[in-house]
Amino acid sequence: MARDTSPQCKQCRREGQKLFLKGERCFTDKCGVERRSYPPGEHGRGRLRQSEYRLQLREKQKTRRYYQVLEKQFRAYYEKASRQDGVTGENLLRLLESRLDNVLVRLGFAASRRQARQLINHGHWMVNGRRVDIPSYQVRPEDIISIKPSSSATETVQRATELVSTVPAWLQADHDALTAKVLRYPERSEISAPVQEQLIVELYSK
Ligand code: SF4
Repeated sequence: MARDTSPQCKQCRREGQKLFLKGERCFTDKCGVERRSYPPGEHGRGRLRQSEYRLQLREKQKTRRYYQVLEKQFRAYYEKASRQDGVTGENLLRLLESRLDNVLVRLGFAASRRQARQLINHGHWMVNGRRVDIPSYQVRPEDIISIKPSSSATETVQRATELVSTVPAWLQADHDALTAKVLRYPERSEISAPVQEQLIVELYSK
């Protein structure tokens, strides 16, 4: 499975904000953005020329990195979102937000999307009683998510639950039993991703 292997803190520094890609470390003063708040590379501290295109491109890249999705897959999400009823940008975010790896992070069952993907790939999670090893799996209302009985990742998952204080209202989590339920799809106001989706729509509509 293809994935972005570039250093995660550099990805945050490139986008100029914390994307919380590393779990626990992101909440400490070891965070790369806290320590060096300028873009990486030789010209990182130089003055950047802003253009409309650049703003749109950066917003798209930031969103891709936040959800840890590669370009081709991201484009496919956009195409799907544009075919759905409603506002394309919101549809796009809803599709990204409903990925199983993201849902595990929102539930507090993984410290980062990368950790969530690893746990899913290694078969530690089930949806409606069946093992799901595809991180991009789209959850649906009424889905029941649970850790595999006697999973060796139980301790890791329990440690991750200590990082979240609240679970979004469209999800319901039981941090003791490590099970959850998808109550409904998220509203735009419930998606906390630092994204201006309209800029992405403008970029792809050119
Ligand atoms: Fe981003 Fe986390 Fe690295 Fe900070 S520690 S720069 S939030 S990945």
